[in-house]
Amino acid sequence: MAEYEWNLDLENLVKDLSGIVGEKWVITQREFMESYLRDETPDALRPKPAENLILVKPSSSEEVSAILKLASSRKTPVFPVGGRTGLVGAAVPTKPGIILSLERMNKIEIDGENMMAVAEAGATLADLIKAADEANLFFPPHPGDEGAQIGGLIATNAGGSRAVKYGVMRNYVKGLEVVLPTGEIMSLGGKLLKNNTGYDLMQLIIGSEGTLCVITKAIIKLFPKSKSMVTLIVPFNKRSDALKAVPEILRSGAMPLAIEYVQIREIEEAARHLNEKWPVEKGFAQLIIILDGTSQEEVLLKCEEISKICEANNAMDIMLAETSEEQDRILRIRSNIYTALKPRMIDILDVTVPPSSLEKLMDEVDSIAKKYEAYLPAYGHAGDGNLHVHIMKDEHMNLKTAEKMKEEIYRVAIALGGVITGEHGVGSLRIKNLSLALSKKHVEIMKRIKKIFDPNNILNPDKVLP
Ligand SMILES: Cc1cc2nc3c(=O)[nH]c(=O)nc-3n(C[C@H](O)[C@H](O)[C@H](O)COP(=O)(O)OP(=O)(O)OC[C@H]3O[C@@H](n4cnc5c(N)ncnc54)[C@H](O)[C@@H]3O)c2cc1C
Repeated sequence: MAEYEWNLDLENLVKDLSGIVGEKWVITQREFMESYLRDETPDALRPKPAENLILVKPSSSEEVSAILKLASSRKTPVFPVGGRTGLVGAAVPTKPGIILSLERMNKIEIDGENMMAVAEAGATLADLIKAADEANLFFPPHPGDEGAQIGGLIATNAGGSRAVKYGVMRNYVKGLEVVLPTGEIMSLGGKLLKNNTGYDLMQLIIGSEGTLCVITKAIIKLFPKSKSMVTLIVPFNKRSDALKAVPEILRSGAMPLAIEYVQIREIEEAARHLNEKWPVEKGFAQLIIILDGTSQEEVLLKCEEISKICEANNAMDIMLAETSEEQDRILRIRSNIYTALKPRMIDILDVTVPPSSLEKLMDEVDSIAKKYEAYLPAYGHAGDGNLHVHIMKDEHMNLKTAEKMKEEIYRVAIALGGVITGEHGVGSLRIKNLSLALSKKHVEIMKRIKKIFDPNNILNPDKVLP
């Protein structure tokens, strides 16, 4: 993006912001904003935060609007942040300006009749799961860190485990309230399952990583709570057997909520990291399959069908977890593979290919690992064709080699009809790779859209667009 003239008169800005949200909610001391200067991106690649930042915590959409009007008139950069669990540096404030946290806007109302939640952007994923559960409803997706906020989940179009059956964030969001960088408050969609009124700006905003507008509220579709849910852990000696079973399971009609692929070395490391023990010690490769249904009989029938498919693909002893405690424990350990590996990691990729091409992708990743003598642990959301390949630190690895390897993996994914990111987004880390995936025309249209929403380029500059 072209550079703009930004104007940061800190002293007056603090005074004006205090007039909007109250002095208590304008933080200028660096030591009190440390955790807002980074997200969960591995240290080696995470962008450096700027100096001269002001952290502001509004309590209403009107306050957000006043902050953005002020920032627009002064051409001051604004960085919307959620739970700072992102993995591509999208929430890091890279220019002097305002960090905007909506954590005080965290109310959730459940509309049981329409099976929808109306959630403010600062509510967390944990809050939403709990509120739905208390109303006997269910919010299926589970991007690993429950500290993520509604605004962040929508701005990144998060996916995670349990997206196989009902899809990713974009499939749940039915309405949004947003504030444009110039301060106007806009409502989009509603408690509607059908809406064809004009261009769908709401879907454009979902996944826009804080670059087009600030999300303040969302209407989110919920599902009836499953009467019965089980988790299977299916061990295989060979990766190819595990991956061959996946498209067969998808075709069987016993549609699982999640089909996760893990390898024994990393899943056991995640368990140790949490002082837990992984319950299935057999096999090099394992599938974790979550099934739900309206009765125990229905779910057990699905289990039987899936077990048959897995056994025909050489699965060993299948473990069935039925209690919610055991199933939560399994999901928690799975969600912590990243956290366990992170200290030794340079980057986590989230390439996505058509599900039936996952095996080919993994074979190609193995060849790349061999060529560079690298350890590239991989696991992922197998039912979605979404693979997390980790580039780890070791004696052969430096940032330049990591970049080269990453580009090779991206090229392979694209050649298989895939994309460079299926979950985490572009943020600041993937901008340099965007031209591999998108045409010049595509990027040009994106830049024009950005200009329409944000004529002064104040909102999350340095992100998504080259
Ligand atoms: C252990 C772990 C596991 C994870 N597993 C998954 C996974 O399985 N699937 C997956 O998809 N992701 C996963 N993630 C990544 C991350 O949790 C998601 O990207 C999540 O959606 C980010 O939400 P957040 O609130 O933390 O956003 P942040 O990291 O704070 O911000 C992310 C982006 O959203 C923007 N943003 C935040 N709030 C707003 C708002 N109110 N309005 C406009 N823009 C806003 C920011 O500017 C930034 O661009 C994982 C992360 C961790 C640490």
